[in-house]
Parts: sequence; structure tokens; C-alpha cells
Amino acid sequence: MAKLIVSDLDVKDKKVLIRVDFNVPIKDGVIGDDNRIVAALPTIQYVIDHGGKAILLSHLGRVKTEEDKAKLSLRPVAERLSELLKKPVTFVPATRGPELEDAINKMNDGDVLVMENTRFEDLDGKKESGNDPELGKYWASLGDLYVNDAFGTAHRAHASNVGIASNMKQAAAGFLMEKEIKFLGDAVQNPKRPFVAILGGAKVSDKIGVIRNLVPKADKIIVGGGMTYTFYAAKGLSIGKSLVEKDKIELAKQIMDEAGDKLLLPVDNVVATEFSNDAPHKVVEGAIPDGYMALDIGPKSVEDIKAALKGAKTVVWNGPMGVFEMPNYAKGTLEVGEALGALKDATTIIGGGDSTAAAKQLGIAPQITHISTGGGASLEYLEGKTLPGIAAISEK
Ligand code: AMP
Repeated sequence: MAKLIVSDLDVKDKKVLIRVDFNVPIKDGVIGDDNRIVAALPTIQYVIDHGGKAILLSHLGRVKTEEDKAKLSLRPVAERLSELLKKPVTFVPATRGPELEDAINKMNDGDVLVMENTRFEDLDGKKESGNDPELGKYWASLGDLYVNDAFGTAHRAHASNVGIASNMKQAAAGFLMEKEIKFLGDAVQNPKRPFVAILGGAKVSDKIGVIRNLVPKADKIIVGGGMTYTFYAAKGLSIGKSLVEKDKIELAKQIMDEAGDKLLLPVDNVVATEFSNDAPHKVVEGAIPDGYMALDIGPKSVEDIKAALKGAKTVVWNGPMGVFEMPNYAKGTLEVGEALGALKDATTIIGGGDSTAAAKQLGIAPQITHISTGGGASLEYLEGKTLPGIAAISEK
């Protein structure tokens, strides 16, 4: 079974509600990074090129108080979108009511309209985030067709994704959503082998679902980052002052038993006396000495990872190998990223968040097959969970 895609719809003369992910960083009305707007362009462009009216809905940040509204308006996003599309975009500073309805009724084929941040509805009893049935029904009534292109929120059941979808005859995926499902879905369900997963980041507890789901599926699981030292503790190695989740040591033991020699742990680490870039630091093999904390993987571990990646046909990477925000502890992450970028004939996937930042910092982003736009959503996908936003999209 395959999902219905926007290109399967006849959008001509139709009011097409498109849920996009315009949740971009904005400070003082200035957009920091417009990647997510750019990523939504193919779907919007397709709809308007085929004579549809594109009505865009998105959330932006979390709206908790009246004061949040001023800094979380989608107006600057609509302006940026207009520049990117090179055409006027109507912005309506409302999420419901006559002003919005009139503006939609006045649209011509090929027009684009952005309504205000869907989370403004959260001020009144969390109507958007709580998937209020009336709100989903109301928004659905504003359009003829519905397209969901917001992968970043697919792990949440909100009024603007699941709510609208359940009030329409059909719901289609946009091109970005299609791409995310294809790459993450193939990796998890049908990977070309050898399939290697690289998992880093601060905590075992955040990645436990992913590790559990991927252990039986992957040919190798490489662990790095702060969660390494909970595994070290599980092996009985001393960890000094390193990050550890004491209540996850038993779990780490279980995972090591289940994974056997599929699991690759760092053999050496960069250790420092303090959590600071300027603290005295050195490379040590094995156990972490007293008074030190491990903040990056060491050069031998990087060589091991490169060897494990040789010949890989699918690689999924989520989470940095160390405290990459501090230059002295960034090397492990950067070298793993470089190794990933240099792979030939492999599908390489980065699962959002900090590893995406590392890939950009390194300039290897163009060599990566797919960089997911969803942090939490891609993690849940890799955990093998059903994402409500995706489940609500119709099958062909
Ligand atoms: P996550 O959001 O789970 O991918 O974790 C990313 C964070 O983990 C980054 O901010 C890193 O600085 C942090 N991190 C990675 N390695 C370590 C480590 N060895 N000790 C402490 N924090 C770490």
C-alpha cells in the first residue's frame, strides 16, 4: 500500500488546505533559518502551478500567553514565502472567522494564503494541540482538498493534521512528507544491507526506543555520545564524572545481551576535568579516570566507526558523538559526519536535530541522501511507532 500524494489529486479550481511546517526560528521578526519554508515549496508550487488555491496552515512555537502572540505571528514567514515564490502571498491574521473566510472566498486559482499560527487556538483550551473536534471540522470546511506536508508534527495528533484529515474524504501527503516516509520507511522496513545505525546524543533514555527497534534490524549499531558511559557502567568500567543514567544501567546490559557483537562502543575517549572547552583534556583508552568526564569519542573509536561503515549500503545517524558545540570535543562528531559524507553507493540518512547541525557545520549536507526535517518525528519513526499524522493520510 502506498500513500496518496498531492500529485494524485486534481487540484484545479480547488481550495487546497496544506498543512506545512513553518516552525522556523524567529527573533525580533527576523527569520534565522528558512530551511523549512524552502522544504515546503515543491508542494505549494505544485498546487498553484496546477491551478489550485493554496491555503497554508502551520504552527509556530508554543503559544501559552497573550503576550506570546506578538512574537509568534506567521506574518514574517508569509513575507519570506512571498519572496521565495516570487509572487504575492496573502497573510490573514486570524485562525477563524469572517476575515479568514472572506479572504479565502476571494482567492483566485494559483493564489497563496497563509493563515495565522494555528497554535493561537491553544490559548483557548489547547484547541489545536488537543485536536479539538470542532476546530478540525471547521478548518476542514474551509477547503475542498487536504494535503499534509508537515512531517515535523506527524508524531502529534493535532487539529490541523489529524483533525482536518478525519473530516475530509481524502487526505494526501505533500512531497516533503512523501520523501520523509520513503527514506525513513525504507531504512526501517526494507534497508539495503549492510545497514548501519549510528546513535549518539546525551541520553540512553531518549534513544532507547530507537536502539530497541533497530537492534534486530540493523547489521551494526554504533553508539557514541553521552549515552556511551551508561553502557560503560553496564560493562563494569569506571566512568569518572561522565554522564550516566544509573536507572538505565540494567537496560543497557539487556541491550548489550540482545545486540551481541552488532553493538560497537567507543574504545577511547577525550576526557576533561570540567564540562568546559578550556578544561585540561586528553585521550584515554577504556575506563575513564577519576576526576575526569568523557566529552568526545577518541581517534581509535573514529577508526573503528570508519571500518564499520565500509561497504554499508544504508546508514542512519542520529545524535552527536560528543559535546560538538565545544570545538575541543567536536572532532568525533565531525569525523563521523565526514565518513558518512564520503560513502559511495550508500543511502545516508540523518535523523534531525543536532546531527543535522553538525552536518551543516561540516558542509557535508549536500553529500547526505536525506536529512530529515523532523527531530521528534524522525526519532519516533525510527522507533517503529505509528505516527498519527501519517496514519491519517489516505492510502492510494
Ligand atoms: P540529543 O539531543 O540527545 O541528540 O543530544 C545532543 C546533546 O548531547 C548535545 O548537546 C551534546 O552536547 C550532548 N552530548 C553529546 N555527548 C556528550 C557527552 N559525552 N557528555 C555530555 N553531553 C554530551
